[in-house]
Amino acid sequence: MPEVDWWSRAQAVLPGGVNSPVRSFGRVGGAPFFVERGEGAELVAVDGRRWIDYVMSWGALILGHAHPDVVAATQAAVARGLSFGAPTPDEVRLAERIVAALPSVEMVRMVNSGTEATMSALRVARAVTGRDVVVKFTGCYHGHHDSLLVRAGSGAATFGVPDSAGVPAAWARLTLSLPYNDVEAVTDVFRREGARIAAVIVEPVAGNMGTVLPRPGFLETLRERTREAGALLIFDEVMTGFRVAWGGAQRRYGIDPDLTCLGKVIGGGMPVAAYGGRAEYLRRVAPLGPVYQAGTLSGNPVGMAAGLAQLEAIGGPAFYPPLEDLATALADGLVERARRHRVPLASAVAGGMVSVFFADRAPTRFEEVEATDHGRFRRFFHALLERGVFWPPSPYESAFVSRAHTPEMVEATLAAADAAFAGL
Ligand SMILES: *Cc1c(COP(=O)(O)O)cnc(C)c1O
Repeated sequence: MPEVDWWSRAQAVLPGGVNSPVRSFGRVGGAPFFVERGEGAELVAVDGRRWIDYVMSWGALILGHAHPDVVAATQAAVARGLSFGAPTPDEVRLAERIVAALPSVEMVRMVNSGTEATMSALRVARAVTGRDVVVKFTGCYHGHHDSLLVRAGSGAATFGVPDSAGVPAAWARLTLSLPYNDVEAVTDVFRREGARIAAVIVEPVAGNMGTVLPRPGFLETLRERTREAGALLIFDEVMTGFRVAWGGAQRRYGIDPDLTCLGKVIGGGMPVAAYGGRAEYLRRVAPLGPVYQAGTLSGNPVGMAAGLAQLEAIGGPAFYPPLEDLATALADGLVERARRHRVPLASAVAGGMVSVFFADRAPTRFEEVEATDHGRFRRFFHALLERGVFWPPSPYESAFVSRAHTPEMVEATLAAADAAFAGL
């Protein structure tokens, strides 16, 4: 028995008991467990229960929990001091690694969260173009700042409305939200509003409505329309960067965006993110240019050490094919087990990102994800949890494999899933 009821204590002092909403199990019901530690691909709760973890800090931990190299580098950095407010060599080293891996990125600015990265990238795009309007896609998540917590208004391609209380309607009116993968909607919006559009921001593989792959031609259309209109194309690769390929989705699909946002994997589990792109754009940022953006803890030495150690341990492009093979074996195995029990299930995989959907076909846009069977997902989630597998607690989240996941763990997951599907 747990000595302490952490969940009750948490709910008394933290809104919903958590510091980020999805952790509360709101989409699946029940109470979350409290983590004592992570070991490779496994999580251990304070009461000693153990799970194979497919959340992996929402994708950051591509080498698994507490990877020895990452831990050692981080501990060494801690011993030298936690923060200085003056430059350190690891900031340069991590930036050089990123620049070398992403052909479209010539300079980067480190920040502390993906939210900050997309917020700052939009500011740069607005400064470069002298325009205010931003185009996003429904179901893509870019963090919680005002410009992008916006959903589509009623009617096709109308200006947005706030997707959170407290977001000014005036802000939302500067954001257009289109259906993901809809090239006609993109072309149409550029025909009508092109001269006002500062940027298109997109998850080049969507990961925040489950994994939804870009259809052939979608990213190419974004590249063409933005270029014609003098708008910037921003790839939000906070999830996909160093997750779907070395250098991210832009290398996987061969498209050069103007600006790129990174986070998650580049911090190795520490609060590190970045935005970058062509030098002519990054030179607009203070102190070189008029776009103000700063951070007391940006480029923090402990975060830089963790991120650098993780990228060094990944090493390069050869890391990804085996990771994707394992993710594919997991996805295919789940679909096959579901079929045995006559449960319709579809999957999507990109690098170390995986989703399964309780539907006949993998969704291509948000409305199709909404239409999947959420009741079944809830029961699937809890049946796995009882059997030692921690799947992401929402049908709108991607699952993540790491190098610490083994074929045996995938087999154990499929055995648990088989029992789960039998009960659906
Ligand atoms: C996680 C995520 C963010 C937000 O990053 P935070 O560090 O949580 O602010 C932004 N964009 C994408 C694509 C993400 O997956």
